[in-house]
Amino acid sequence: MSTENSAQLFEKAKTLFPGGVNSPVRAFGSVGGTPRFLTKGQGSKVWDADGNEYIDFCGSWGPLILGHANQKVEDAIIGAVRNGTSFGAPSVQENELADLILGNHRFVERIRFVSSGTEAVMSAIRLARGYTGRNKIIKFEGCYHGHVDSLLVKAGSGLVTLGESSSAGVPKSYTDETIVIALNDIEAVKDAFERFKDDIAAIIIEPIPANNGLLLQDGKFLRALREICSDENAMLIFDEVISGFRVGFEGASGLYDIKPDIITLGKIIGGGMPVGAFASSEKIMNSISPLGPVYQAGTLSGNPVAMAAGKAALEQLLGDDFYPAMEKKTQKLVSTVLEHVEEKGYKVKMFSIGSIYWIAFSDRPSIRSAQEIDPESMNIYRIFYHSLLENGFYIGPSGYEVGFVSAAHTEEELAEAARIINLSLDKALS
Ligand SMILES: *Cc1c(COP(=O)(O)O)cnc(C)c1O
Repeated sequence: MSTENSAQLFEKAKTLFPGGVNSPVRAFGSVGGTPRFLTKGQGSKVWDADGNEYIDFCGSWGPLILGHANQKVEDAIIGAVRNGTSFGAPSVQENELADLILGNHRFVERIRFVSSGTEAVMSAIRLARGYTGRNKIIKFEGCYHGHVDSLLVKAGSGLVTLGESSSAGVPKSYTDETIVIALNDIEAVKDAFERFKDDIAAIIIEPIPANNGLLLQDGKFLRALREICSDENAMLIFDEVISGFRVGFEGASGLYDIKPDIITLGKIIGGGMPVGAFASSEKIMNSISPLGPVYQAGTLSGNPVAMAAGKAALEQLLGDDFYPAMEKKTQKLVSTVLEHVEEKGYKVKMFSIGSIYWIAFSDRPSIRSAQEIDPESMNIYRIFYHSLLENGFYIGPSGYEVGFVSAAHTEEELAEAARIINLSLDKALS
């Protein structure tokens, strides 16, 4: 496989952007080698600047649940663009996308659109603080919520501690407002509330943590968080930027049947265009400007082209069979790989939910927290990853990244994908 053109483009990019990229993980830092410059996507496939073809499981990191260049989304974008790209005034497209979401989601009554998941989370946190009049936020190690200052925080030493910044440029006074706890540790959550009783505004969690491996949580843990927040008058924020519209139209909230106080959305919501959103009850959302005291705004928020793309995408998810069919396809991929793993006796696990999967080089029956991931396994992952690429399989370049199956993947493509995974496991483990 030649990667000469990508390599040249990357050299040029390094003279333009820090590390040659506009988002760090794209630089292939953890797997080494040349990041592929992608030039075209169609259905489940992408092509790079050297003409190599890949079956894609990155899906732009989750948004492309319908695959690349979905015809209806493409038509909607072109249709919208013909009438101008942005007005900064209310538009019909905003109403339509909001109607579609709120009309098909039991747990939210009002929504506000922003332009990224980070922005959605940042605004949701401000809303929780503004509404409760409290300052502190509880987050979990292994959950990612975008590059919001006060959430770029990792656990300090000790069980219940204020966080330490995981990025330069974040003042200690910010991280002092964030409490970081291990996933699946309800006692630590209770301890935190005892210690900071009336100053905890919210617990934020990815109900299906999928940014640091796939750390599937026990429903009991999520329900316990709901109970504690209700008892303590704190807000439960489900960050559904990945899980929203991915595991069901109502996301993880619907799947676990838990009503959070605020839901953040992103990725799939924009049909591949930059859209995020936060949503809640009418009462809570009335705190947002211009109605209430919590300020929030955006020049390009509710952009008509992006809204039209989102609507065209989400409409296709509403059929009764959409999610069951996605899960069935994904399960076939998973079972084909696991049969091979069992036959060979590899210490490999493949976790999945809906159309998300993650391969872990581990023999733990379950991995529910970040600490349970063996960092040494990433050395094996590197070999595995390059074998995937070389055989025409594309996925995010890190062993902590999950894979996404799209509606565009055919059974034949998934069978081919399973074959490539299996031969890459052989390569990495023999
Ligand atoms: C991707 C992601 C974000 C950040 O969204 P951006 O659009 O990249 O800013 C936040 N939370 C979760 C759970 C995500 O997966």
